[in-house]
Amino acid sequence: MPPSKQERREALKAVYQQARDCARCPQLAATRTTVVFGSGNADADLMFVGAAPGRNEDEQGLPFVGQAGKLLDKLLDEIGLQRSDVFICNTLKCRPPGNRDPHPEEIENCHEYLLRQVELIEPRVICTLGNFATKLLRADPTGITRLHGRDEVRVIGTRAVRLYPIFHPAAALYTPANVEVLRADFARLPEPRPLPDVPELEPVAVAVDDRQMGLF
Ligand code: URA
Repeated sequence: MPPSKQERREALKAVYQQARDCARCPQLAATRTTVVFGSGNADADLMFVGAAPGRNEDEQGLPFVGQAGKLLDKLLDEIGLQRSDVFICNTLKCRPPGNRDPHPEEIENCHEYLLRQVELIEPRVICTLGNFATKLLRADPTGITRLHGRDEVRVIGTRAVRLYPIFHPAAALYTPANVEVLRADFARLPEPRPLPDVPELEPVAVAVDDRQMGLF
């Protein structure tokens, strides 16, 4: 029997607990304030994956709470969505010092957490924000400029999902013309239609306060 929504939620909290103590990347573990696991609806049809937490995210323990996050909120609002409708996370759960780019081995170390999130939240559409998430989840080096705004079905871990790459909101902050490109891509976000896939997951029961994790 597939796990219930509640079982998936509990299992997600268990993954969060594991990530909270993660020391796979010694430098990131030494310099982070908090692990930014992700937040939102644990049963969302739509998931957003950014690159890595920045200073604000590291301080608050929540993804996209700085300037890029404000733009993300605005674009969501324009299409009638709120954070509580979607799940938002990053390829890296820890802030790289000085906001440097994530290193390939860090992305690799953190990949398992993202795969578990996809497995347990069961999104139908994953919107990758910028190059890091897009290249990781497509397992291909093609850049976001060529790919943005076109969806494709990909297998992520054990699930078939509709991937929809778009520009990273931070890139739009630096290049205002990209805001209109982002807005147009948001307006064409694919409908979360069902895709075939039935994961066999073992639910893990663990007590974590939902609010601690930013779950709605
Ligand atoms: N940029 C990201 O990629 N993720 C965040 O959480 C914030 C800024």
